Amino acid sequence: MADRPAQLIACHYCDLLQREIPLNPGCTASCSRCGAVLYRNATDSIDRTLAYTLAAAVLFAVANTFPIFSIEVQGDRSAINLYGAVASLWDQEMKSIALLVLITAIVMPAVELISMTYLLLPLKFRRVPPGCALFMRTLRYVEPWGMVEVFMLGVLVSLVKLTSSFKVIPGIALWSFGALTLLLAAVASSFSARDVWARLEQGNKERGEP
Ligand SMILES: [Zn+2]
Repeated sequence: MADRPAQLIACHYCDLLQREIPLNPGCTASCSRCGAVLYRNATDSIDRTLAYTLAAAVLFAVANTFPIFSIEVQGDRSAINLYGAVASLWDQEMKSIALLVLITAIVMPAVELISMTYLLLPLKFRRVPPGCALFMRTLRYVEPWGMVEVFMLGVLVSLVKLTSSFKVIPGIALWSFGALTLLLAAVASSFSARDVWARLEQGNKERGEP
């Protein structure tokens, strides 16, 4: 950030315009009027977010492929995975819930992870991916709709209820969902849109674009 020219930044809370100053790694700039945090110089936010995103993508693939849990009834064991749960809700005429699970636990996290990787992987190697503004906007809209943690909570409540009647065996996907919840929180907290825009700006300048 130190090589960027000083720019004006408006406080999100009180609208005071202030001049940006270069920060040391790990430092935070606060509004001089209301004290709200204006921006941070998070060290390696792009590298860290990319690492969390790639780890989350692996867990997401595992969570979607393997069974969440199995139920054993009189020696017969039947396993259920995420798609199976959605299909079964759909078949039982709970179409709106099936759609909600499909969107919040599968589609939105997938879009988020794909968009993050598409943006951050080239940026790590100082390249500017085409259509990056579109992907930044997509991330902003998608983020509030990814609710893996709510899904996880629902599954745990169902498991506790089921254990009173059946023998329930947790599957690999259940542990993956647990770890995925933590990793998605880490992605959200380490992602800095400001750093991404700064890297994009720098990349465009190096290519001679305005
Ligand atoms: Zn302020």
